[in-house]
Amino acid sequence: MLPRSVRRGRSPLAGSECRSAATHLAGSCTSTRGSCYLNNAAVAAEALRRAGHARVAIVDIDAHHGNGTQDIFYAREDVLYASVHVDPGAGWFPHYAGFADEVGFGIGAGANLNLPLAPGTADTRWLDAIMKIVQRVVDFDATAMVLSLGVDAAAADPESPLEITQDGYHRAGELLGAVGLPTVALQEGGYHLPTLGALVKASLQGLTRR
Ligand SMILES: [Zn+2]
Repeated sequence: MLPRSVRRGRSPLAGSECRSAATHLAGSCTSTRGSCYLNNAAVAAEALRRAGHARVAIVDIDAHHGNGTQDIFYAREDVLYASVHVDPGAGWFPHYAGFADEVGFGIGAGANLNLPLAPGTADTRWLDAIMKIVQRVVDFDATAMVLSLGVDAAAADPESPLEITQDGYHRAGELLGAVGLPTVALQEGGYHLPTLGALVKASLQGLTRR
């Protein structure tokens, strides 16, 4: 349930710490992957639409492509799905989705943006990709944003080969917060427990410009 103030656009940020990463779940049980039971980002985006937001952007910075989220909105023009993630073609989960040529279907064509990155990618290129996502969100005329905040792109995380620093996550938060949209931030992946809290904190501080 989203706070009423965010649904109506009066509050800039709502957050949820939820487990586990849910972006891999699509509409049917047969699509369940990545230990997901509810796709929190999809639920939040749909709630924002029903609350009156005409166009909602889902920004997914988890290290892995959100195949389930993409699948749910792939043929819709009112919800943008934009993701930066490790290249699934390089052997990383979810393997079969997340490629750059997946741009949406039918009236949803153009409302799906995938920016796969090579293993070993560090802050500069990752942040360049996030700036491209920010531009797409602006061009899309989104009125609200859902942030799939996976912090498993961090250098110490054992589940991905990306090399993002805590400062990188802070900067990503700043870039996304600068868009100025009412935002629901949902915790997704992140598996290096000693640094998990600091990474989430840095991201949220960037998002709220603290
Ligand atoms: Zn992940």
